[in-house]
Amino acid sequence: MKVKKRAIIPKNQCVACGVCVKVCPRNAISIISGVYAKVDDSLCVGCGLCAKACPASIIKMEGDVQ
Ligand code: SF4
Ligand code: SF4
Repeated sequence: MKVKKRAIIPKNQCVACGVCVKVCPRNAISIISGVYAKVDDSLCVGCGLCAKACPASIIKMEGDVQ
């Protein structure tokens, strides 16, 4: 088993500013219906750039045991 880090975005706190979408090197984040950002876990490599860039500081990095 290995632990993969991934970004978690609480959608009820997201203001859909799109900053995380722009900084993600894997294009793993999309804005859904213009309302909130969603991470595609299969693309996210856990680099943490989105969490650093989010002006609302709502993105958390969490480990998933796979
Ligand atoms: S942690 Fe990195 S790869 Fe994952 S969504 Fe954020 S910027 Fe993209
Ligand atoms: S940077 Fe933060 S507030 Fe902006 S879209 Fe991404 S998660 Fe939402």
